[in-house]
Amino acid sequence: MLDLSGVSHTYPNGTRALDDVTLSIPKGMFGLLGPNGAGKSTLMRTIATLQAPTAGSIRFGDIDVLAEPDRLRRKLGYLPQDFGVYPRISAYQMLDHMAVLKGIADAKDRKLVVEHLLEQTNLWAVRSKAIAGFSGGMRQRFGIAQALIGNPELIIVDEPTAGLDPEERNRFLNLLAGIGENVVVILSTHIVDDVADLCPRMAVLAGGRLQLEGVPRDLIRSTRGQVWQRTIPHQQLPAMQEQHQVISHRFFAGEIVVHVLSDTQPEGFAPVEGGLEDVYFATLAQTRRAAAIAST
Ligand code: ADP
Ligand code: MG
Repeated sequence: MLDLSGVSHTYPNGTRALDDVTLSIPKGMFGLLGPNGAGKSTLMRTIATLQAPTAGSIRFGDIDVLAEPDRLRRKLGYLPQDFGVYPRISAYQMLDHMAVLKGIADAKDRKLVVEHLLEQTNLWAVRSKAIAGFSGGMRQRFGIAQALIGNPELIIVDEPTAGLDPEERNRFLNLLAGIGENVVVILSTHIVDDVADLCPRMAVLAGGRLQLEGVPRDLIRSTRGQVWQRTIPHQQLPAMQEQHQVISHRFFAGEIVVHVLSDTQPEGFAPVEGGLEDVYFATLAQTRRAAAIAST
């Protein structure tokens, strides 16, 4: 279990990136969903002990993470958002090198670990190729391979699917899903489907604050009878946004399908079984409204 308590972070320029985040993350896949600028990477770096928060405490099992960062690092696998390690050496050599850094000193042990990881991440066939020449999907799979060195108990992956094509994204998520239930895996993402497909628990972070936390199915159920749908011509969207609480709109066959939030059925709208996307957009809409009220 990873326990965050009152974690806040203000950058030297005054940006309050995290605001009193309290959260318990059990073993299994945990989705941290939020838009750009929400504070996800700040939180991931903080848990990974790369930066200290301005306030709060973090525990992982019996480890006081802020007081004993070295103990945490020994149990940590981390794939940063900007991995940025694309050297001209081969995937095999690089993994071998990183395994040395992670303390696997014995060459025979290391060979087993590196070979296994290359197979697990489907990079065996390209193990002798330079990482610099890898596609985005291959790089991300390499990123997971290095994060898995040394059987970490806490794995953090920060926006790993951004920029992947659908096939690579699927492949990557399958790989994550196979990591196992005995490990805490935190997947930070702005893509609702990443969480919907994969995570038994999730939280929404926006404006540095935890907006929502729970089991996706329960959160979806909580919007039942509150989400309504209507298809309208483009030009009616502004008026619709004036009259209703529009949580999302998408283009479909030249028209716009709008979803609105309402306790009662608005005229001309049909009920729709809400999804995680509705939960997420409704949460963001409420967050924006609260921020607008606070700033007036
Ligand atoms: P996310 O990963 O969800 O997009 P970040 O944690 O990267 O969010 O950023 C949260 C907020 O903190 C943003 O407003 C961002 O501009 C700001 N921020 C991030 N890193 C720094 C930094 N090193 N210095 C100042 N502000 C930063
Ligand atoms: Mg980020």
